Formats: sequence, structure tokens, C-alpha cells
Amino acid sequence: MPTPVYQRQIARSPRKTTHHSTDWRCTRCDKLLGVCRDGRMHLRFARGHEYFVSFPVTATCRGCKTLNQASAPAGR
Ligand SMILES: [Zn+2]
Repeated sequence: MPTPVYQRQIARSPRKTTHHSTDWRCTRCDKLLGVCRDGRMHLRFARGHEYFVSFPVTATCRGCKTLNQASAPAGR
């Protein structure tokens, strides 16, 4: 019997060592756009909206409106 989808999405956040988290910043004004975690980009918007998105990622800077793109997880 296949595991119900909802059960697999409940990630029991393992509180071990934090993985590599890399800041993704605007190429123009250096404002923080998101944070790369475990091969995905964690985007955080106003009012508590948060998203995990897969690469490639595009996002408009809140500060200078520059469209930024990240095609792969940032190097370490
Ligand atoms: Zn910017």
C-alpha cells in the first residue's frame, strides 16, 4: 500500500547540523532575496509568505525591482 502523500510531506525537521544554507542576494543592491537550502531556494516574502522553489529560480528584488535569476544552487 503506497504511503499517503500527506504523510510524506510532513518533514520531521531533523534538528541535526544545519545544512549548507547560502544567501541569494540581488545582483544590484545586494538585498537578500532568498536562502538556498538542500538544493532548493527558500523565498520569503512580506506578511509571512514563504516558498520553497526548485531551480532555476527567478525573483524580482523588492528593493530595486531587478529581476534576478539563479540557475543552480550557489557554490559553497
Ligand atoms: Zn535589488
